[in-house]
Amino acid sequence: MSDKNYSFFGAVERSFDKAAKFTKWDSGLLNQIRQCNSVLQLRFPIKRDNGEIEVIEAYRVQHSHHKTPCKGGIRFAAEVNQDEVMALAALMTYKCTIVNVPFGGGKGGIKIDPKKYSVGELERITRRYTSELIKKNFIGPGIDVPAPDYGTGEREMSWVLDTYVSMRPGEVDAAGCVTGKPITQGGVRGRREATGLGVFYGTREVCNIPDIMSKLGLSIGIENKRVIVQGLGNVGYWAAHFFQHAGAKVIALAEYEGAIFDEYGLDIEAVFQHRKKTGSILNFPGAKDIKNSNEALELECDILIPAALENVINGENAPRIKAKIIGEGANGPLTPEADDYFAKNGTIVIPDMYLNAGGVTVSYFEWLKNLSHVRYGRMEKRFTENVNSSILNQIEELTGKKSNAQARELIMHGPDEVALVYSGLEETMINATHEIMKVWKENPAIPDMRTAAYVVAINKVATIYAELGIFP
Ligand code: GLU
Repeated sequence: MSDKNYSFFGAVERSFDKAAKFTKWDSGLLNQIRQCNSVLQLRFPIKRDNGEIEVIEAYRVQHSHHKTPCKGGIRFAAEVNQDEVMALAALMTYKCTIVNVPFGGGKGGIKIDPKKYSVGELERITRRYTSELIKKNFIGPGIDVPAPDYGTGEREMSWVLDTYVSMRPGEVDAAGCVTGKPITQGGVRGRREATGLGVFYGTREVCNIPDIMSKLGLSIGIENKRVIVQGLGNVGYWAAHFFQHAGAKVIALAEYEGAIFDEYGLDIEAVFQHRKKTGSILNFPGAKDIKNSNEALELECDILIPAALENVINGENAPRIKAKIIGEGANGPLTPEADDYFAKNGTIVIPDMYLNAGGVTVSYFEWLKNLSHVRYGRMEKRFTENVNSSILNQIEELTGKKSNAQARELIMHGPDEVALVYSGLEETMINATHEIMKVWKENPAIPDMRTAAYVVAINKVATIYAELGIFP
């Protein structure tokens, strides 16, 4: 539940309505955009390792069919419920629209705490869920394409693929039925770190906008910025990694067992290894432990990245947050009350539906790779290297000067898959930032960046419907 008496989907609707006032669309059309088009509620049995039968509660929601396939992750969490999956599916529609990824929003959820199940049990649950989706026509490269989310990863996606392929033999584009797969199963290089990298690119771009930085009293750029990351899962870990490598200081990391603090900046890889070895981020050599991890969110810093679950910053703790920029790595970490507070006190909130869109952007690249059946760079890498080499040789011949080995390598290097994926993602995040900022600048009555992002999303989806001629 959010601060007041409304649910997570209710909070998304409130944000939508707040932004809709800044658009010119008919209320019926707006209503069509904000509703969930299809909600699939499932109950199915699985056999536990001890022989008991357990009935599993699961969902798949397709929020919008203005573009197909629908797209969005599957989460495994004890808190999963229909309202949450609906909210997350709606966010996916807006997210895909903002980064110009041609999908409608979808989301799936299975109400289990994955830590309480063996690998074999998780496999049975994932495969049964997938076969239920196939029976209901809720999955397929042109219908609805799941991906990893909270509590799932490459392993689960390969089970989804294998189940799909075995039930749809001979379907040539079958690999495009799910993204976030291991490379050997048709995954794309760079997908694993994509959401965290997108969080980094998006935040960096905001930090490069002189107007915003001068209003916040911060220097331009990422270097030396003090960053706090909540959640060391796939999104938080990679975001922290990229911030550190760009010269920011990750001064605190928070997890459910507690938080650690080091004013000189933590070494993310070392913390990750420490957690792997000891099972906790606490007691990391040289860092100070903070027992209550929520307190870490309230420390003095420049950038705060909540990258765990929804509703962690609300009307109650917002006044104690000291960060100047909050970048939403997770989906829905701020409640509408927190938004209102930050809009008033001038904190910049970079919204989830734009900032964590790196995952779905690279999922789009993976889906395209699956449909084209060829690895990125396969056709052009050698060709580009040969052309670059001839150009370099010509220049050296004409100038009589030789370039050093390092420069030669840099100039000759043809595009490989990971380089293309990173540059495609960087371009996407930079363009989306400026598109949102332009709308915000042109309409100063818009209170915050989230509302500006919603305005961009609503206008794009509404234009598609309007051009279909179905609505006035
Ligand atoms: N679960 C991720 C998200 O919330 C990725 C979705 C996808 O790649 O389809 O954006």
